Amino acid sequence: MAGEIHVVTHPVAQHKLTLMRRKETSTQEFRRLLDEISVLLAYEATRDLPLGTTSIETPLTRMDAPILEGKKLAVVSVLRAGEGILAGFLSVIPAARVGHIGLYRDPETLEAVQYYLKLPEDLEERDVIVVDPMLATGHSAVAAIGRIRERSPRTVKLVSLIAAPEGIAAVHAEYPDVAIYTVAVDSHLNDHGYIVPGLGDAGDRLFGTK
Ligand code: URA
Repeated sequence: MAGEIHVVTHPVAQHKLTLMRRKETSTQEFRRLLDEISVLLAYEATRDLPLGTTSIETPLTRMDAPILEGKKLAVVSVLRAGEGILAGFLSVIPAARVGHIGLYRDPETLEAVQYYLKLPEDLEERDVIVVDPMLATGHSAVAAIGRIRERSPRTVKLVSLIAAPEGIAAVHAEYPDVAIYTVAVDSHLNDHGYIVPGLGDAGDRLFGTK
């Protein structure tokens, strides 16, 4: 099965990403833009939520109005850069439970090493959305999805601001049923595993650590 990839082509999302990529964009601006763009990503990633109807009364009349069927969701943030996407998601789906996975990249092997894991207890009843801004080699996304899958959630989606073709291929080779949502599919990875043209290190740009 070919994996699904959804590119958010909305002009406002594309514009905001361009501003984020510019090297002169400040930490403060970068953080605000990521928060705003995350809301657009959240709308796209929740587009298939099932709707029911409920009978309501407006000031004029009674009507059957659409209402979310109350699917149970969990958002899992891949530390640390996933934190820049989390708040925007929770503003769209405030009832979602939240999990965290701490992974760092071994600079030599580029493999993902886990240092923290805390997931909602009832994950088997939930649809999970993993948020990690940069899908580069795919090692951390594959590791995160693997840990989540051990808990048998109903479905898993992956949301990344920018995705590299290598990362998309790695995720879909391992998990072809995981739909990926992104704002841009960039050209390639450099020798250090950074996305080109990309935006640099998302964590450093978000938190001003470099
Ligand atoms: N992580 C980042 O923050 N940026 C990249 O380009 C790749 C991985």
